[in-house]
Amino acid sequence: LELTFVVLKPHVVKVPSISKEIKNIIIRNGFLVIRSKEKILNPNDLQMFYGEHKNKFFYNRLISFMSSGPIEAYVLARENAIHKWRELMGPTRVFEAQFSAPDTIRGKFGLTDTRNATHGSDSTESARREMSILFPDFDPI
Ligand code: ATP
Ligand code: MG
Repeated sequence: LELTFVVLKPHVVKVPSISKEIKNIIIRNGFLVIRSKEKILNPNDLQMFYGEHKNKFFYNRLISFMSSGPIEAYVLARENAIHKWRELMGPTRVFEAQFSAPDTIRGKFGLTDTRNATHGSDSTESARREMSILFPDFDPI
């Protein structure tokens, strides 16, 4: 099985009915929940987590949004987990998600390009790096 790292972003965690619906999507699609935690991300977590974006125009917006309230972080296992989760999330940009993929997580629950409901790792290397930030004691071997 492959591991992926998933985050429910603050605007989703704030609404119990929406976070419950996303958790149902996780379970219905055969993902196993290996680790989970709720956390308010600190500046150090965020700098490590979003380091690749630090020169982007949306970086400050992204960091302040992601520290605006608790997030829920998950390590999930499934066959082809990384690709499958990104398929379920849909496109990053809210317009594209709502317009061309309305049944995806971002199509349904994305509010803006920044508040796009969930995160999912884009490669095994990112998954390992991201897991080590939120679950430093977890050893994926
Ligand atoms: P994620 O890494 O969260 O799974 P992604 O891989 O689809 O999303 P990235 O390009 O890695 O997208 O961007 C990371 C995050 O930065 C996005 O999830 C979104 O919150 C924010 N972001 C990306 N592009 C934009 C943009 N054009 N305007 C505002 N925010 C953006
Ligand atoms: Mg990404």
